[in-house]
Amino acid sequence: MRAFIAIELPNEIRDSLNGIQEKLKACKADVRWVAPENIHLTLKFLGEVNEEQLSKVKAIMETIAGQKKIFNIRLASVGAFPNMNYPRVIWAGVDNGGKEAEELACALEEKIEKIGIPKEERAFSSHITIGRIRSNLGKDRLTAGLKQPENYFKDSVHEFSVNKLTLFKSTLTPKGPIYEIVKEANLTTA
Ligand code: ATP
Ligand code: MG
Repeated sequence: MRAFIAIELPNEIRDSLNGIQEKLKACKADVRWVAPENIHLTLKFLGEVNEEQLSKVKAIMETIAGQKKIFNIRLASVGAFPNMNYPRVIWAGVDNGGKEAEELACALEEKIEKIGIPKEERAFSSHITIGRIRSNLGKDRLTAGLKQPENYFKDSVHEFSVNKLTLFKSTLTPKGPIYEIVKEANLTTA
């Protein structure tokens, strides 16, 4: 199955990210917006894994989660990869908690490489994808919209506690991916 490890987001955070998506939709650019219920923070994309790899990944998740404390993530910004002038991926950026998420991602990656799942070529950078650009249609309007971050996280603090790792199964369909929770591993309280 196709799988990945992520940080699940609370409903109210997904709702506010959906609010940002709605604002950016006004730019009328050609964007495939991530379905609000699917918004997450990817720690490690696994791709196709077999049953044997899957059980090893689950054990690795338990080990790593057992070594890391619960922490908070605060979202602070909206941006784009590779940059706002040439947006391909639109994301919400992590302010507080980015370092902890990165530590988790690196710890997972290191152990997971040993079971034959290749490392990412690019360095991990904490972000939450909310949209992917399909074509250049309306690109300049989108760039302008993205450059008004004061609209996005102005009135409230978007902060949540990360207390577990979640392994998702991803089924790609023409209507978009379907994610299902396969396993959760709790971070420690101590
Ligand atoms: P779709 O592929 O239909 O756009 P999706 O990207 O949401 O949907 P998946 O491709 O299964 O679904 O990816 C699951 C998660 O893993 C997403 O957060 C995606 O951004 C991330 N991901 C996918 N491919 C990679 C990759 N090669 N490297 C790093 N992360 C990836
Ligand atoms: Mg994908």
